[in-house]
Amino acid sequence: MIKVDRASVAEPTILITKNADLHGERNKIIQYHENGIGVKVDFSLYSKPEVKEALRTLFNHKCAYCESRVSHIDHGDVEHWRPKGGVTGQSGHKGYYWLASEWDNLLLACSICNGKGYKGNHFPLAAGYTYATKSKDDYRTLEKPLLINPCETDPTNHFGFNHLGFIKGLTIEGKQSVLSYGLHRDLLTMERKKEAEVVARELRQIIELIADTIRDNSRSSINKRKIKEIVSFLRKRVSSEYQYAGMSRRIIRNFQSTYKNNLVFVEWTKKILKGY
Ligand SMILES: [Zn+2]
Repeated sequence: MIKVDRASVAEPTILITKNADLHGERNKIIQYHENGIGVKVDFSLYSKPEVKEALRTLFNHKCAYCESRVSHIDHGDVEHWRPKGGVTGQSGHKGYYWLASEWDNLLLACSICNGKGYKGNHFPLAAGYTYATKSKDDYRTLEKPLLINPCETDPTNHFGFNHLGFIKGLTIEGKQSVLSYGLHRDLLTMERKKEAEVVARELRQIIELIADTIRDNSRSSINKRKIKEIVSFLRKRVSSEYQYAGMSRRIIRNFQSTYKNNLVFVEWTKKILKGY
C-alpha cells in the first residue's frame, strides 16, 4: 500500500451535483432510513462510469489495498471504505448509507481484497470508540478506524516487507489491515516475491559495483555508469504506477538499514527513494 493524494484527481462532477440535489439518491436514501419517508432507493451513483474512471486514474489502475494492477484483467470494484450496507459485527448498524456516493469514501479495489472473505463489510474501530450510525453523526471525531485508508494515512510505517514478499503489520492498524484486506494471502505473496527478488538483486548489484571500484579504481567511471542505470531502473519500480511499489520502497529501506555503514550505497539509494 502506498499513500495516494486524493486531491491529485478532481472529484467527478456527477457526485458533486447529484449529492447536492435534494431529490437525488443521497437525500432519498437518508430520508428513507432516518425519517421513514419514501421508498428504499438502490445505490447507483457511485457505480457511474465517470466515477470508476476517476478512481482508476487516482489509483494508477491498482488496487488501493494490495497494489496489484487490476484494470487490464478486471473492471475493478468501487470500494466503500466505510461500508454502505452494514458493518460486520455490528448487527444494528445499517451501514454508512449516507456515504455511499461520497468521493472521500470511494477507493478502487480488486475483487479479492474487497470481497466477502476479506474487507467486505469489515470496519473495526479502536476500543472505546463509537460508530456513527446516521448522516448527522460526525464520524471523523466519533470513530478511530483500525483499517488504513491510503488516502488518509501514509501506510509507509505501518507495514514491513522482506525480500520474499512477506508482509507484516508493524502497528495495530497495520496488523488489522493485513488481516482485513488479506494482504498476507499466498498467491499475492508469491506475486510480490517476484518483484522483491528483482529489487533485491539490483541492490546487491549496486553493492558489488561499489566494492569493485574499491578493489580497482580504474573501473570507477564504468561502474558509476552501471550504478546510474540501476538507480534509474529501480526509480521506476518505486514509482506509484508500479505494482507493489510500497514493498519495493520498504525493501530499499531495509537494505539501507543493513548497509548503513556503506555510505556510498546509502547515498545512491537515497536517489531512488527521493520524494517517497
Ligand atoms: Zn487488492
